[in-house]
Amino acid sequence: MPELPEVEVTRRGLEPTLLGAQLLQVQFSNKSLRWSALPQFATEIRQQRVISVSRRGKYLLIETAAGWILLHLGMSGSLRFVAEHEALGPWDHFDLKFCSSAGTVSRLRLNDPRRFGAVLWHPRLHGPILQHPLLAGLGPEPFEPDFSAERLYHSLRSKTAAIKQVLLAGQVVVGVGNIYASESLFRAGIRPQTPAQRLSLARCNKLLEAIRQTLLAAIEQGGSSLRDFYHTNGQSGYFQQQYFVYGRVGASCRVCGTTIRQLKQGQRSTFYCPNCQR
Ligand SMILES: [Zn+2]
Repeated sequence: MPELPEVEVTRRGLEPTLLGAQLLQVQFSNKSLRWSALPQFATEIRQQRVISVSRRGKYLLIETAAGWILLHLGMSGSLRFVAEHEALGPWDHFDLKFCSSAGTVSRLRLNDPRRFGAVLWHPRLHGPILQHPLLAGLGPEPFEPDFSAERLYHSLRSKTAAIKQVLLAGQVVVGVGNIYASESLFRAGIRPQTPAQRLSLARCNKLLEAIRQTLLAAIEQGGSSLRDFYHTNGQSGYFQQQYFVYGRVGASCRVCGTTIRQLKQGQRSTFYCPNCQR
């Protein structure tokens, strides 16, 4: 599943081509995605220029003067640029035809074999995009400057659940999915079963630092090479070769040599080193 790093890598792949581009046409396949766009979408975006390409959580936001296109890659979605006349394949659900600022006409295409992706249109007259119902309830972004260890510490005070579970829930911070939760907790030296409210401010500091390092490393290396994820240029990432603990049950810890363990937390697998993580 594309997680925050993959979505951010996708955003970075889209931005140089889409910025300043003029939108020409949208095309949907007949198969429905998780949420379908409003009917006025097609007419409202026509001739609009792309002002920004941003991200909130795992949503990509393509901004124009008339409003925003919200894209979610779901479980298996990917975006790529294709030539102007390339026909839709069986798992292609959405096409955005545009003319780049360099004058080239091409298409941004959403491919999604499992059809859990989403394409939505949010007209500017409906209010600021960050108040959209899908975005308003999201936790803070891990790289937001005012997201501090103190803030993390205070938001964990009321959480009795295990820290791994609390990270996955996305309320105290967004974007720390299953892989990155295991990896961040390893880097911070924190046992995944630790009740969240028992973490000291010093450990929250380490954890926030570890989350940022883990996500940044993944972004810089192009996201994780899971089966369904591709860069916008069609190449896969290779962050998974760098995992400390994720998927490494029975292998030796890269730091201390202790055997990596696995456990189930809320149906999800967690990996940790019993020596490095206390
Ligand atoms: Zn270890």
